Amino acid sequence: MAQSAIRYRDNTQYIQDAQLGDALKHIFIALDRKVSENPRQYGWLLQAMNKWWDDFEHLPPGLKDVELDEWLVNPKRKADFEEILNLSLDNVNTELLIEIMKFKRVIDMNPHEYDVFKDIDNRVLKGEKVPCPTCGEILIYQGPDTGKHPSIICPNHDYTVLLEVQRVDILDKLGLRKRKGSR
Ligand SMILES: [Zn+2]
Repeated sequence: MAQSAIRYRDNTQYIQDAQLGDALKHIFIALDRKVSENPRQYGWLLQAMNKWWDDFEHLPPGLKDVELDEWLVNPKRKADFEEILNLSLDNVNTELLIEIMKFKRVIDMNPHEYDVFKDIDNRVLKGEKVPCPTCGEILIYQGPDTGKHPSIICPNHDYTVLLEVQRVDILDKLGLRKRKGSR
């Protein structure tokens, strides 16, 4: 299945084309709620979404890239877009949540933060109580025994990291991952 890119500065995240369409729709629904309150503040984002949707419909599979640089030209716009992304996370299922988080990550991430995220994952896997970087709630490790893709999630759904199965398996083998409650 074709994947397109979400780009901002030096960061890139890839998203399945079909899910990109769903993600854009949910972001638009959140924007639509806000835009009536303050049309002047979010006018640029309406324009941006219009462009992204046109590209999504008309560009070939795998080339429906969302370029954020030309739109997020100042910190205010970046903050406004993040606010809309957060709103769009309300009432979405986990699959879509993960896709919309890609927009957040591509904006948030710099090389230093990337290391911090890795560090968070490793500490959670070792059984430490690690607060969510967004809301402060204690993050949860969701293992393969739950029937879901192994991941680290925030109970408030604002932090989600899918883990590679192999990495978890290896941590198990090496005895580095402690189960919840064991010390
Ligand atoms: Zn959280």
